Amino acid sequence: MRIIVQKFGGTSVASPEVRELALRKIEKVREQGFSPVVVVSAMGRQGAPYATDTLIGIARSAYKGIAARELDQIMYCGEMISAVVMAGTLQAAGMDAIMLTGGHAGIITDANYTDARIVKCDPTRLIHLLRQGKVPVVCGFQGMTGDNEFTTLGRGGSDTSAAALGAALNAELVEIYTDVDGIMTADPRIVENAKILDCISYGEVCQLAHQGAKVIHPRAVEIAMQKNIPLVVKSTFSEAPGTLITNIAKEDTDGTAVIDRVATGVTYLNNIVQIKVHLDDAMGTDASFKVFKTMADSGISVDLINVHPGQIMFTINADHAEKASIRLKRLGYEIEVLENCAKVSVVGGGMREVPGVMASFIEALSRNRIAILQTVDSHTSISVLVPQSDVETAVKSLHEKFGLSN
Ligand code: ADP
Ligand code: ASP
Ligand code: MG
Repeated sequence: MRIIVQKFGGTSVASPEVRELALRKIEKVREQGFSPVVVVSAMGRQGAPYATDTLIGIARSAYKGIAARELDQIMYCGEMISAVVMAGTLQAAGMDAIMLTGGHAGIITDANYTDARIVKCDPTRLIHLLRQGKVPVVCGFQGMTGDNEFTTLGRGGSDTSAAALGAALNAELVEIYTDVDGIMTADPRIVENAKILDCISYGEVCQLAHQGAKVIHPRAVEIAMQKNIPLVVKSTFSEAPGTLITNIAKEDTDGTAVIDRVATGVTYLNNIVQIKVHLDDAMGTDASFKVFKTMADSGISVDLINVHPGQIMFTINADHAEKASIRLKRLGYEIEVLENCAKVSVVGGGMREVPGVMASFIEALSRNRIAILQTVDSHTSISVLVPQSDVETAVKSLHEKFGLSN
């Protein structure tokens, strides 16, 4: 059996006309002799009646601080509705389609509600259905704990469902259908001349996704990478070939693998707060440790970390800023909180040991008079913290400077 997993995002299942386009993609792979497993997200984006954001809004209208377990019960509904409607669409076209929840499809998670991790994916039932010639339509984003509790896999998690099913079924390919023609050198909503990347390595796309490119969930890439399952990100609305994600960053025209690029793409993350903690000798040797321990115990993840003798600097998501500053002040730390920041990153698998990368990065920002609040770099990325108001200019100027606009 040759299996393909086809995942359709929210905009790819939003209306009867668009579901017809999705249907054609499914029919096409069946004609080619593949057994498809279809995975769907909740219908539409923010504002649509059954979109995940709408469901969260309903729950929070009762109580802003509603517990994560209860939130998961309502978030679960978006994909239920979508999968039923999609299964109906396929049945109307004569396919023997069957709607399955994440749990039905064998996705078992931990109990970390709203951001659960897949602990096991048992494909037995899916294999049985595929052997009978059925077309499973699985609710993306959903999991089930060992105690039969409903969970969800974190925002954008339908990609993770698709990759996990692809890995468990040893699929030939996982197709991620969305509303753009592939992974681009920057978010096309900011950079008009962003380019589609034909191919990209798991490592690079993981970095892009972690640094803010929301086009694919980083966990989906990690899962596919572990089993070397190729992923393709492509559009439901066109016939463009999309972006192939494998362990090769780029292919030459003769098909041979080419070494990683210095710069592959530019990404950004909004809604960031910088915290500076002042330290003095009287606080003892474990003062720095206590700062990070407090953040960890509060469930707050920290980023852009710089530790100096008299000061620690780090960033957190703005949603946690109040909790973080209350807890640090309670422990007697003197802190400075800088709100309304954004992190902008240039990602490239081949930037290691290439002279002048940092110089180009700083030049692009300084020319546009963008304040550099903090920087951090790794073998495959350089990131900068900038005022939120400068994020678009920073992304555009870095995209230009690193030759991605040509
Ligand atoms: P879906 O609902 O299909 O999962 P998403 O909204 O999660 O769709 O992801 C697709 C969107 O990601 C695109 O509409 C695009 O605006 C955005 N995006 C952000 N960064 C990138 C990038 N580097 N390449 C392509 N799309 C990007
Ligand atoms: N519907 C979920 C979300 O909006 C999952 C997904 O779209 O991938 O986060
Ligand atoms: Mg998505």
